[in-house]
Amino acid sequence: TPDVRPLIAGNWKMNGTRDALSEIKAMADGILHSDLVDHVDALICPPSTLLYVATAICTDSPLMVGAQDCHQKQSGSHTGDISAEMIADCFGTHVILGHSERRTDHGESDHLVRLKVEAAHEAGLTAIVCVGETANQRDAYETLDVLMRQLMGSIPESATADNTVVAYEPLWAIGTGLTPTTGDIGVAHAFMRDELKRRLGREEGGAMRLLYGGSVKPENALALMSVDNVDGALIGGASLKASEFLAIYSVY
Ligand code: PEP
Repeated sequence: TPDVRPLIAGNWKMNGTRDALSEIKAMADGILHSDLVDHVDALICPPSTLLYVATAICTDSPLMVGAQDCHQKQSGSHTGDISAEMIADCFGTHVILGHSERRTDHGESDHLVRLKVEAAHEAGLTAIVCVGETANQRDAYETLDVLMRQLMGSIPESATADNTVVAYEPLWAIGTGLTPTTGDIGVAHAFMRDELKRRLGREEGGAMRLLYGGSVKPENALALMSVDNVDGALIGGASLKASEFLAIYSVY
């Protein structure tokens, strides 16, 4: 999208212990010294156990650090959960919300995701809201209906281009090596762009970053990132290695 600054974001999921911090250090150095640093944003979302030390490693680098989920409340009796405020307290700037693995494994509804997005905004974080259809929904030609329902349900009216990013992640493309055709991604992203403009206004909806996620690799990144209305990537597996993450970043 013209005038939209791309974002390359990595999601480590439940991977990474202390020995993986060298990868974050290599990413931080790579981004700092990249020719693209003034034009393309980069974000890594390690598990929350590494959050605080990861942000410390990245202090002198433009590589941003985020979390993979947060609770919808600010604090209280919620054993095992972390709040958006705690992420901000660790110097995290972003939080992934409504990832399909949370929607599926933890039964997260659009309504709950929306409450979490509001909590993230309240804490000053940028929310990366994930949407996407299952293989069955795709086969039934329901993709755009699903995207409409998830966008309407998960994204609050208060969302702006600064505090919200949308990631289109077809469930059947996550971790499978499969991707939609660039034509299908273009249709989905143009649809989301129109819906967001209608709902949030031309300005905010037009400038909101729309990421594609699902089996993004160094080999396919250029083709995927060249699709209209694709403003970056959300990367799972290929974000675990600094070399692959930086190779994808470098396609811009
Ligand atoms: C993800 O789950 O956010 C993802 C895109 O995973 P992968 O890149 O491994 O398909």
